[in-house]
This record gives sequence, structure tokens and C-alpha cells, in this order.
Amino acid sequence: MSSVQNELDRLLLKVEKPARYIGGELHSVVRTASADTVRFAFCFPDLYEIGMSYMGLNILYHLLNRTDHTYCERCFTPARDMSAAMKQAGVPLFTLETKTPLREMDFVGFTLQYELCYTNILAMLDLAGIPALAKDRSEDDPIVICGGPCVFNAEPVADFMDVILVGDGEELLPEICRIWSGYKKSGRTKIEFLQEIAALQGVYIPKFYEPVRDDNDTFRGYRKLWDGAPDRVLKAIVRDIDPVDFPKELIVPLIEVVHDRAVAELFRGCTRGCRFCQAGMVYRPVRERSMEKVVDIARTQLENSGQGELSLLSLSTSDYTQFEPLVTELMQYCKARQVSLSLPSLRMDNFSFRVLDEIQGVRKTGLTFAAEAGTQRLRDVINKNVTEEHIFTALKQAFDLGWTSVKLYFMMGLPTETYEDLDGIVDLARRIMELAKEHNGGNVGRYSVSVSVSNFVPKPDTPFMWVRQNTPEEFEQKHYYLKDRLKKIKGVNFRYHGSYASMLEAVFARGGRELSAALLRAYELGASFDAWTEGFRQDAWEQALAENGVDETYFALNDIYPDAPMPWDIVDCGITKDFFKEEWRKAQAAATTQDCRYGCNGCGVNAHTECRWGGIYADN
Ligand code: SF4
Repeated sequence: MSSVQNELDRLLLKVEKPARYIGGELHSVVRTASADTVRFAFCFPDLYEIGMSYMGLNILYHLLNRTDHTYCERCFTPARDMSAAMKQAGVPLFTLETKTPLREMDFVGFTLQYELCYTNILAMLDLAGIPALAKDRSEDDPIVICGGPCVFNAEPVADFMDVILVGDGEELLPEICRIWSGYKKSGRTKIEFLQEIAALQGVYIPKFYEPVRDDNDTFRGYRKLWDGAPDRVLKAIVRDIDPVDFPKELIVPLIEVVHDRAVAELFRGCTRGCRFCQAGMVYRPVRERSMEKVVDIARTQLENSGQGELSLLSLSTSDYTQFEPLVTELMQYCKARQVSLSLPSLRMDNFSFRVLDEIQGVRKTGLTFAAEAGTQRLRDVINKNVTEEHIFTALKQAFDLGWTSVKLYFMMGLPTETYEDLDGIVDLARRIMELAKEHNGGNVGRYSVSVSVSNFVPKPDTPFMWVRQNTPEEFEQKHYYLKDRLKKIKGVNFRYHGSYASMLEAVFARGGRELSAALLRAYELGASFDAWTEGFRQDAWEQALAENGVDETYFALNDIYPDAPMPWDIVDCGITKDFFKEEWRKAQAAATTQDCRYGCNGCGVNAHTECRWGGIYADN
């Protein structure tokens, strides 16, 4: 029994939800590592319940554990009570599988799913006893590596990382571990290893580049510190995802987690071109998994893991080319086994209603519409091709079939938004309730509309990356404006998000390396779990930003000149700046861009890999 295990047994009696820290779940992998085995700790910088709901963890965990050279284990951010107890007892952060301290690993790998997890990375490195800054680490320390959607601008955390992996990880990560296994056996140095892997597509080594600033302290680009490093790092692209292993044996969590279900990925990428959506841009081109493979993955996962729910993963489920036959087959399979089928991101057409009616039966859950904006003008600005006609045609059908609860999702503070667009949200909610009353003999009855508003955050590699965010005060006034009007409509409820946290998200989405000192200071002052409303330390953040001379208005609240060099220019997401500029120009004119299945829009990703989607609908 390891010394960590001895101490852990005592600590677990004192903390909430001890099952977060014990491992041993069905399909977790416990094995004996030899001296030559590459040890990889997959770290999710949030609680167990959040991290265990993330499919990417299962994918990479099983991929690495299927290799001969690498043993992958898991680690999550301990909750505050556990962190305090571990610090007091001197227990270092450890892996769930073998209770090995993280600092004994070859790699400590973080997935960056959202910007507000960055202080949790610092918390985990601190608890592990690993120096936060890459420059302070020795040959004996693990290699700290990260991937995930935020790495399209990972500059705010670049000083903490030895390696940043950009793009699809399924081929790249095992290859990096394979190369390290050779270095481990031969005893060669880390710097030689970093120089070798820097040649791989998708590998960004921050220490090989230095930000350049002019006399006014304005960012002007990067200077290479090692000539062998590429000028820009092109994202890694898995050209065909069909042969890539998808886990058939999901780790079955011991406690309730946010999403506890079998999941099969349909496709990656999106052709629709919503202008605020980073995932829809950076994961282009669309790559589909074959229907046979999806069915096989779904069945095997359900049989091996005993889950009661199956969900399909993609950015726009109805766009899957085999959508109808796939759903028909899965529906029959799930029905026979009393498994519920969940279909996120559906377009509300006749087929979808038939399917939803059948899978939800009499216990109909809420119907969701991501309208995103309250007027057609603003929906055209953001290129969200949903019209009120779509929404009301779908709603009439939904009410006829027995749905009584509708969820509407909007984004607030979108570029060019005015109070008329907010009135459009109120108007939409009012008209939906009027329609509901018509269906219910003039009474609201059980009908309800939930209006949920998130705050717009400009993200790199989108046509809105240059646009300022609303100030927290503007957001608050708009929240108040909507709240005041929506509360007068019977049956409507309203939810919104905190505005200071959204501003921080924008600061870290668009900021550069100068933010690392403020991140470290905010952590020292007690900030962690910043994505959680409870315990969010605005005071710590205000102090940390002020002490480090970070002007949040500079990063979040300024319009940026599109030709200005940006911190994220070091990474090439595959889409050209000219495409983003043209999309921004069209947005300002409220002009839409068609789904590229009706005709290629020239985003540029096909210069790096095959894209077969341009005009496929037009050709039929
Ligand atoms: S290359 Fe053309 S078809 Fe392919 S994603 Fe880009 S715009 Fe769409």
C-alpha cells in the first residue's frame, strides 16, 4: 500500500463525497507499470463530477492505455475541503488508479475546456508539488502538457506549460508518448525531446517563442528563440475519424456525475457557420463516423457499462448524413432495452418530432430552442439560420403533441445588439405563451417558457474575435431590463449569468502571456473554481488584476483593429483571417452566409486536408 493510500484512508473520513478520490470504478485501468513505462496523468481541472462527464477523457484514457508504452491514469481538482485536508496532512496530489503522486509521472496533462478553469490548474500543480512555471522545472519534474478547445489561445497559461497540443489529439498524443518512451530509455534530455516533437503538426512549445512588444507596450508578434521551431503551429487534424478507436467501455462513475451516459460521436466540425461559435470554426472540416461504427459503439458501450441513457455527440445532430436511419435503428434498440435516447442539437422538423414524441412518450421533457437572438436582424448578424416561422411552426406541432414546457436560449451583448433586440426576446416569450393559452382554452395552465440568457464572450478564431464585450454594467442593465419585462408575463421564468465572470472569460479568451502573473496572484489570494458561482472570489480577481497592471478593459472591452497582431496568431486553426474578416464585414451588414453544404464559402481549411462538403446539397 502506498504512503498516499495510508494517509488518504484517514482523510476520506473528513471530507464530502469521498468517492471522488478513491478510483476503482468499473473499466478504470489498474496495472503495474515497469521502469520503462511512460506514466501519463490525465488531469481535468474541475471536480470529479464534471470531469467524468467529459467524453474526451474516456477517449484519450482508453487510447493511451491500449498502447504498450504508456499507462494513463486520472486526476481531478480536489474540492476545497479535500485540498485543505491534503495540505494540512502533507499529502501530495495523486492519481486515482494507483495513488501515485503526480510529481512522479512523466506527463501531467490538462484539458482546457473553459477559461475559468485556469486557477484550478495552478491549484493542482501546487498540491502536486510541481513548480507552476515551466522555466522553474527541472529534468526530474514531469512534462506539463495541455490540449482542448482553449488552446486556440493558450497564451494566458503558456508560461505554465511545457507542451501545448493544438487540434485533434487521438493520433498526436500517443505518438508523443511513444517518442518519450525512447527518450526515457536512452536518458536523453527534455530539451532534445521538445525539439524533436516541435516538428509534429499540432505541437506548440511555448518556450521556443517570446512575445515582442513595441515602445508603447503593444503586442507585435513573436520572436523565435529556437530556429527549428515552426513560424506558426498548424492544428493537428485526424483526416478520417472512422477508424479511430472510440471507447466501448466507459468508466462507470461511483457517484452521480453531471452526465452519466453512453455517448457515441457522430461527427466533428460544423458547416453552418454561426459567427460566435468557436467550436464550429476550429473543428472544421466536418468528419463523420460511419453509421455502422456509431451503432456498434453505442451498443457495446451500453452492454458493457449498463448505462440507462445514450446520447449522440456532435455540434448539429440533424446534419448527420445518415440521421434518419441511424436514429430509427437506435430508437428500436433503446426501446427494447428501456434505455433513454437523448438527441441534443436537433433541428425541429417533422422527423425530429416523430422521434422525440416516440422517445419521450408521455413524460415529455422541455423542448429547447437555441434562438440566440431576439430579432431576425440580429440572428442574421450572427448567421443563426433560425427564423420565427421555424420556431412557431415547430411550437404548434409540439403543443399538439403534448409538450408544455419550452426552453429558449439567447446570448446577450452580441455585436450590434440594441434594446430593440431585447424587446424581441420579450415579444417571443409573450407570443409563445399566447399560443400556449390558445392550446389550453385561454389559460396558461401547465405551460411554461424558460428564457435563459448567457453573456456574449468574443472568442479567438471566430468572425467576432475583434469585437468588444459589453461592460459588466451594460450586462447588468440589460439583465434588469429583461427581468423587469419578462416577470410580467405569466408562465415565463428568466435565468442569466454573472457579468464579472463573463468579463474574466473574455480577458482570458483574448489575452496574452502577460496574464500569467495575475493568474498566479489570483490563485494565491484564494481564487479557484472560478466557473462556479458559489465561492467565486471577485475581490481576489480585482486585486490580482490591479496588482499586475492588467487593464481588463483592454482585453475584454475594446474593439480590436482586424489587422493588429493577436496573441493567438501563433496557432493556425486552418481557417484564413481573410475569411473571418469577410464574415465580420457581412455581419455588420446583417448579411447571412449559407451553410457550406450548399456551396463552399472558402474558409480555407481545405488547403490543409480534404473537405468534401462544399456544395453537396446543391449537387443533389
Ligand atoms: S472548405 Fe468550404 S466546404 Fe469545407 S468547411 Fe470550409 S467553407 Fe465549408
